[in-house]
Amino acid sequence: MTKYRFNTNCVQGTYRPKPGEPRVLPIVQSTTFSFDDSDYVADLFDLKVGGSFYTRIGNPTTDGFEGKMNLLEGGVGALALSSGQSASFFAIINICQAGDHVISSSNIYGGTFNLFDVSLRKLGIDFTFVDPDSSEEEILACAKPNTKALFGETIANPGMNILDFAKFASAAEKLSVPFIVDNTLATPFLCRPFEHGANIIVHSSTKYTDGHATSVGGIIIDGGNFNWDNGKFPGLTEPDPSYHGLIYTEAAGPAAYITKARVQLLRDYGCTPSPFNAFLFHLGLETLHLRMERHSENALKLAEFLSSHPCVEWVKYPSLAGDPYFELAQKYLPKGAGGILSFGIKGGAEAGKGLIKHLDLVHLVVHLGDLRTSILHPASTTHRQLSEQQQIEAGILPEMIRVSVGIEDIEDIIADFDKALSAVAG
Ligand SMILES: *Cc1c(COP(=O)(O)O)cnc(C)c1O
Repeated sequence: MTKYRFNTNCVQGTYRPKPGEPRVLPIVQSTTFSFDDSDYVADLFDLKVGGSFYTRIGNPTTDGFEGKMNLLEGGVGALALSSGQSASFFAIINICQAGDHVISSSNIYGGTFNLFDVSLRKLGIDFTFVDPDSSEEEILACAKPNTKALFGETIANPGMNILDFAKFASAAEKLSVPFIVDNTLATPFLCRPFEHGANIIVHSSTKYTDGHATSVGGIIIDGGNFNWDNGKFPGLTEPDPSYHGLIYTEAAGPAAYITKARVQLLRDYGCTPSPFNAFLFHLGLETLHLRMERHSENALKLAEFLSSHPCVEWVKYPSLAGDPYFELAQKYLPKGAGGILSFGIKGGAEAGKGLIKHLDLVHLVVHLGDLRTSILHPASTTHRQLSEQQQIEAGILPEMIRVSVGIEDIEDIIADFDKALSAVAG
């Protein structure tokens, strides 16, 4: 297949209709597929031929979405799931079991933090959380003989730290474990983690992938660039008794990880996206390049406006001049730092809640990455299940307001904030 550039891949993906077939990736809302030959179906089960046989494990619409996301991130295979949470869950349990250990950045999405710190611990998987700005030596000092992965977010939600890929990739390489990156806030338009040493990427496709706040979903992309055959990952290199002795590294080569996630974890745990949602994610990606450019442009303008406003204590936006992550943003996000910014309003948490009440265009929603500008007070909403100490470790200050800057006219967005800030100050 001819190689196209990024924007062309957003628009056209991997779907290539044959004569007479729909121009747009069709929604195949069918649980199952019909055949007339048992031997052929046996070959499908044995992974000798590709194709869908039951929608829990694969579907042509979902396949179109997976193919496009895999192309955009530059991987060897992708697996769509029913939420970002299930993507992070699968990404870990595909290579970890009770008795294993993972090192994760402490500045991660609150839901991921709870998944790791509470639910996966109950399954016997241990986690050490490390400040992502620690030195490589400090990260390596967290390692144990049973460490199986290193995890971080490209742009931390909502701490706004930019991951130092070179440092994390080097630590992962020294430990011979995969480097897993949540690339939700950056999207492959702004940053392609495989080019910076990541081995596995996860996304909440609920956010910028969809872009229109219609569907919850997640996806894992396999970089195919990790050597699993180092003695630490028997689940990939030894026969799987639940799959009549299949050895994933032999059967799927560089796509061993993502093949196992599909035929073993998706088979057993479900977490399957609906074909209709996969259709919407695929549709959303058609404009990803245009949206991310405008989200980034608008967010920088709003960050500049807020940073010069007398009612604002501080602003965090990685491509704002003077931001502590400015250098890392220039290095890893040269096309822009995306649509999320945070700021602290003078008057603390109370002033923050007041500000939200005075906004008209901008609504309070528990979401981000939508076309529409939205706002949230993390300490009282998304991160309220964490203790105050955990909140501070995750970069959540009581006065912090998170804005997901949309693609409306920036003059209207700024005017709404200006009016609400004056009302709170007055
Ligand atoms: C929202 C989010 C998730 C969880 O995704 P869901 O689709 O809500 O399950 C994971 N990581 C990041 C960075 C997110 O913003």
